Amino acid sequence: MAGVETPFVLHGGCGCHAIRYRISVPALKDRPNCFYDMSYDPKSGKEPKYRFPFTCLDHCNDCRTHTGSMVNYWIIQPIEWCEYSCADPDDDPHRASGPSSGPGEAFESPEAREKAEAKRKWFKAEDVALAPTTLHYGKSPLPFLSFWASSPGHCVRTFCNRCGTSLSYTAHGVLPPGWTLKPIDFQLGTLDRDDLQRYRCIIPKEQLWGGMAVDWAKDMAMGKSEMSLRSGYRLDEP
Ligand SMILES: [Zn+2]
Repeated sequence: MAGVETPFVLHGGCGCHAIRYRISVPALKDRPNCFYDMSYDPKSGKEPKYRFPFTCLDHCNDCRTHTGSMVNYWIIQPIEWCEYSCADPDDDPHRASGPSSGPGEAFESPEAREKAEAKRKWFKAEDVALAPTTLHYGKSPLPFLSFWASSPGHCVRTFCNRCGTSLSYTAHGVLPPGWTLKPIDFQLGTLDRDDLQRYRCIIPKEQLWGGMAVDWAKDMAMGKSEMSLRSGYRLDEP
């Protein structure tokens, strides 16, 4: 299965392509235990239940309102695995990274993506996404990337200031005692569609903040739904 044991790279970005990011996931043996499994003892010699990247659903009110989505999906990993790039403000004002091949598709092919992204300058995520947490709002070093300290002193969210896509979350003050690894969370839905389909190991397995969930949204996330599924969007189509 793709990405289970060997290194792989995940690609993502905002809706207008001004901001792109990539996550370089190392081989399985080099992926740290995820702190969401607090019972894990590294000295036990056992395989941890979860390693980074960790993916989950999040029902909290802050993420619901920031994204406008009834449930929020995150992919969480060490920040040193991650890089950002930003379009030049003088470039194509509509699409910065090549043509769209249809709804949800960022590039026509992985090769087209590689070609387009090779032309861009990349920055370590820790140099652009860890903005001052004492400010509520500000610009990052990248022209189209802004931040919002939704919990000043605790966390920073980034978003594209051209199209509004919510991109990342970094927590500073709420990590487990003794934890030194800095995580960054990206909105799972901002990953490119081909990566979401290919790497089955990133399918979420946990739901967080269930106590804040809207009842029917939690039921739907648990598979309790009688909704019909249409392949298109028109109600007169099957
Ligand atoms: Zn954008």
